[in-house]
Amino acid sequence: MHQMTLAEIARGLADKKFSSEELTKVLLARITQLDPQLNSFISLTEALALEQAKAADARRANGESGALLGAPIAHKDLFCTQGIRTSCGSKMLDNFKAPYDATVVAKLAAAGAVTLGKTNMDEFAMGSANESSWYGAVKNPWNLEHVPGGSSGGSAAAVAARLLPAATATDTGGSIRQPAAFTNLTGLKPTYGRVSRWGMIAYASSLDQGGPLARTAEDCAILLQGMAGFDQNDSTSIDEPVPDYSASLGDSLQGLRIGVPKEYFSAGLDPRIAELIQNSIKELQKLGAVIKEISLPNMQHAIPAYYVIAPAEASSNLSRFDGVRFGHRCEQPKDLIDLYKRSRGEGFGPEVQRRIMVGAYALSAGYYDAYYLKAQKIRRLVKNDFMAAFNEVDVILGPTTPNPAWKLGAKNSDPVAAYLEDVYTITANLAGLPGLSMPAGFVDGLPVGVQLLAPYFQEGRLLNVAHQYQLNTDWHTRTPTGF
Ligand code: GLN
Repeated sequence: MHQMTLAEIARGLADKKFSSEELTKVLLARITQLDPQLNSFISLTEALALEQAKAADARRANGESGALLGAPIAHKDLFCTQGIRTSCGSKMLDNFKAPYDATVVAKLAAAGAVTLGKTNMDEFAMGSANESSWYGAVKNPWNLEHVPGGSSGGSAAAVAARLLPAATATDTGGSIRQPAAFTNLTGLKPTYGRVSRWGMIAYASSLDQGGPLARTAEDCAILLQGMAGFDQNDSTSIDEPVPDYSASLGDSLQGLRIGVPKEYFSAGLDPRIAELIQNSIKELQKLGAVIKEISLPNMQHAIPAYYVIAPAEASSNLSRFDGVRFGHRCEQPKDLIDLYKRSRGEGFGPEVQRRIMVGAYALSAGYYDAYYLKAQKIRRLVKNDFMAAFNEVDVILGPTTPNPAWKLGAKNSDPVAAYLEDVYTITANLAGLPGLSMPAGFVDGLPVGVQLLAPYFQEGRLLNVAHQYQLNTDWHTRTPTGF
């Protein structure tokens, strides 16, 4: 039962082959049995899951239908869930029970999805390895000595290990696409503003975007359908109609223009990954796509710009965690300043403290123009590069990451080495564009992802290309041994 995709589950439920309650019980038992090896969950919500499953079964019995009605999922632990711990992977929020549901959580619940639990993540979504979580590192089911990617590593490891078919995640600089690549999943970062950020604890507000992690593009379409849409509670949410993402999956790729940036194939890219990307290009050519070399000349400036903008926004967003209103409070403070200092010093881990300091520095008087404003100018150049490229091509293709998943601890002493791994993903966040990662093969038994980028609001095009690719390849069907 645990091998089924969301689409298969939807068909099985519609055909009354099993009930949501039966499926939920099977998956909860599987999580209890197997997750101790992975550490992909921070909280299991068994009682809520069984209650939602029974309610979904009752709705189906009353004639309702829908691909998410009775479908088991989990939420990255930065989506607020009413009355349930919402920790953001931090000691700071270990005692925080959200007073309301995030819009994404509420929408999926209304569609009948069943929440099995809250998944582990890098602390406040800062990281690319899921090692900065206060709840401990998550392990990659493909090799337990390797990282699953981050910051949505818990959602990725759980779905890859078939503990559940799909999960929500967020992507500020790659945190959906990079763990998807490292664990052989399909993950989609939507256009900025497509999915509401209300109740999604902020890391860098101008970059953060929620999206689906699943095994197939078909399943990402189903989950995105439940997540996307205008929300008046989020002032950056876009009031555009949500297309039927499943409807265009079957479109032909004949004549599709795929741009391959020449800057992507530089010295930093593992040659074995470069070869797998070339293979995926050949596969798409067979399906009728036309390949064109393009250039993204400002790509080299993207990492430095991102690592100024993201920490700057984080330092501002995280100032609310002061030990007064919510979250961790130190014991017996001497005075107010002592309360702030020790509550924050004890509540935040080292990576979060590093980002707050970098961000506060970049925003301080005298440095603002030199760092923050400069980074914003680079951001515009990166966006302009994409706008020029999309005049010539329909999608852009390349690797999701320069290397496969590294060993746990391998980059702990050198944060910049981890930042450099984001080279292919962060440009989409700087420009606000949608991006998708899909399985493209293996290197030393570890999965490799190919990334597709598209113009604003062309999530359907990305899902269509990925679905056609997945109809003709079987990388995405491979299962990690032991799961
Ligand atoms: N690795 C990037 C960072 O640490 C991206 C994280 C994310 O997308 N949340 O900021």
